[in-house]
Amino acid sequence: MNDITTILISPQKPINDPGFKFTWISTTYELKANLIARPRDCFIIDYSKVDHGFDFDKELFLSQASEFSAVQGLAFKINRGEPLVTLGSDFKMLNDEAHSQDIYRDGLERVPLYYLSKIAALDFITDTGVSIPVGNYGLPIAFSKLNLDYRKKRPALFLDRDGVINRDVGYVHKHEEIEYLESIFPIIELFNKRNWPVFVITNQSGVAQGMYSEEDVISLHKKMEVDLFKRNLVIKEWVYCPYHFEKGQGDFKRHSFTRKPGAGMALSLLEKHAIDVEKSFMIGDKESDNILIKGLNFLQVKGKYPYNEANSFCFDSFSKIQDYIQGKIV
Ligand SMILES: [Mg+2]
Repeated sequence: MNDITTILISPQKPINDPGFKFTWISTTYELKANLIARPRDCFIIDYSKVDHGFDFDKELFLSQASEFSAVQGLAFKINRGEPLVTLGSDFKMLNDEAHSQDIYRDGLERVPLYYLSKIAALDFITDTGVSIPVGNYGLPIAFSKLNLDYRKKRPALFLDRDGVINRDVGYVHKHEEIEYLESIFPIIELFNKRNWPVFVITNQSGVAQGMYSEEDVISLHKKMEVDLFKRNLVIKEWVYCPYHFEKGQGDFKRHSFTRKPGAGMALSLLEKHAIDVEKSFMIGDKESDNILIKGLNFLQVKGKYPYNEANSFCFDSFSKIQDYIQGKIV
């Protein structure tokens, strides 16, 4: 990371960020001249175009971005009727579409934050600014307004619900349908003991389909929280996605990046808590639990969904996942 130059275009005011040295360049023309004279990888924030009220984990962004030759930061936004990026599973930006609140509840928007390798830099910097076109890569970033201290970030455990905490018997929504998968408990305990947060993120398209209500989901989660607490297990937050575009009805019939594999639920948690994403784990029983956050360690347990034992992230039991995580967090 030391050979990466951090560049602010048109800076309006310095920001307090001891971890990074900034090269102050006031115009894209000067930026380009500097890169021609001394080409190197760069990290660009165009502060002339962004709100100063947010912060993000810059170390994480640079680590995530270093695998790309050029990548643009993407922010998760509730619909404001602006263009939205569709992101492939390989983080390729597929297109920019103007979106309507009737169809899209939320989505990813481009922000003026870029990582450019020295090879790519000059291709994407023009006299008028920096632009990374569709077909290149984008990274969903959690932008926080809470002044999180990323120097104290902690690992977290993200859990799918059905098929991970309780048996997935299909559209589970009543407390009496809950049959706990007890071998997940020691994994929760590993994190609880270290005071590292555990979150549940669950797709609940049953809400969109009118099979049960949001109140049913919230009430069930409260009961599950009590059940787990009686076993000295603490879930810090339960987050669900009630939207489904194809099967949904009414207000819930909308595209949402909160629906996994979209990363919206995790991003909303990363906006509130300083999490060390690259030391965190997401456990699910379905390929779609592999959410679009680069660097987050996905582990799939064998359940009722397609499972490829040739994949290094697939495990046929929770005890093997537990062994794997224990080996990583010592
Ligand atoms: Mg599941």
